Amino acid sequence: MEGKIPAAVMRQTNRRQVYQYIYESAGKITAAEVSEALSMEPAAVSESLDTLVKEGLVIAGPEDSAYELDAQALYAVGISIERGGVYIAVLDMRLRELASRELTVPFSHTDAYYRGLVQEMEALLNGSGLDRNRMLGVGITVPGIIDRGKDKLVMAPTLNIWDIPLEEIYRQFSQYPVYVENDANASGYLERWLDGGQRNMIYLSLKRGVGGAILLSDRQYTGDNGRGGEFGHLRIVPNGRLCHCGRKGCLEAYCSVDRLSVDLGVTLAEFFARLEAGDETFVAVWEEYRDHLTDALAMIRMSFDCDIMVGGELTAYLEPHLPELYWELGEKALFEADRMFLQLERYGPHSDCAGTALRFIDDFLLTF
Ligand SMILES: [Zn+2]
Repeated sequence: MEGKIPAAVMRQTNRRQVYQYIYESAGKITAAEVSEALSMEPAAVSESLDTLVKEGLVIAGPEDSAYELDAQALYAVGISIERGGVYIAVLDMRLRELASRELTVPFSHTDAYYRGLVQEMEALLNGSGLDRNRMLGVGITVPGIIDRGKDKLVMAPTLNIWDIPLEEIYRQFSQYPVYVENDANASGYLERWLDGGQRNMIYLSLKRGVGGAILLSDRQYTGDNGRGGEFGHLRIVPNGRLCHCGRKGCLEAYCSVDRLSVDLGVTLAEFFARLEAGDETFVAVWEEYRDHLTDALAMIRMSFDCDIMVGGELTAYLEPHLPELYWELGEKALFEADRMFLQLERYGPHSDCAGTALRFIDDFLLTF
């Protein structure tokens, strides 16, 4: 005999389904359309919509009984921590930036540093008049490996920290739900979401550190110890250059964006301007960089047999160089046609902030 679902649970489930449907719809939608799409009784749809409007999550149109998401009803904060600076972004339910702040502050794993971040975040929220009751949470990204089983930040070589209990970061933000994650994993999570989450994909992040994320059609794979996708520490040159991690010959030692900027005393923009101008020194550095990058891309492609999306600071400059990369990959990858597996990330700068904020939004959509 079939058990009867309690009315309160049914109402909650209906309300969630209606909200999810409105969230996934781009524009305005009528109650009849919701009812048809979800095969839900008109009375149940109407009750759910009334509740959602009262809660401020959905806006009711004035005349045509159309409803739409109030994207600014709730928000999440993303904080991206790098060695030399921090980016704080407040994002609405549609991942539009409501406010942001870039800080030039050297990283230090101290109470004073984190207190400073909390103060900056609070000032940003106050400046935008954002009600804290509408905040879903604070996501923090770090260029490091997180072991969820041990609740530890195992290592973040570019921040020069090792073996840090996550609690030491969590407690600084204790008034809010908080989540700390690897920056490339957050960016990859966002790109997979933008892509519709239907296909396998590798995300390779080219910043000061080199990292990545393994995105399977239905989930993100981080491995048994949270190290899955740490492509930056693949050894590509035996006894090669010293890496931030202390070992020699890692991909990160050759494909960190520092190789094209800090190490040469220029910015990335200056590097590419001089490269376009045909400066021989810069052409030689770029050819070496590209050679190592395509070696790694060919290896990743051979290991995972799926598209690879390149993200991070370098992405903004890569478009004009894609033909060279495709050509070189065609030479290095075993299967000739495979050279088109390379794509550039879509979101652009600060995708890690948006990705980590998205986790709170996704969580809300599934559980509220
Ligand atoms: Zn390394």
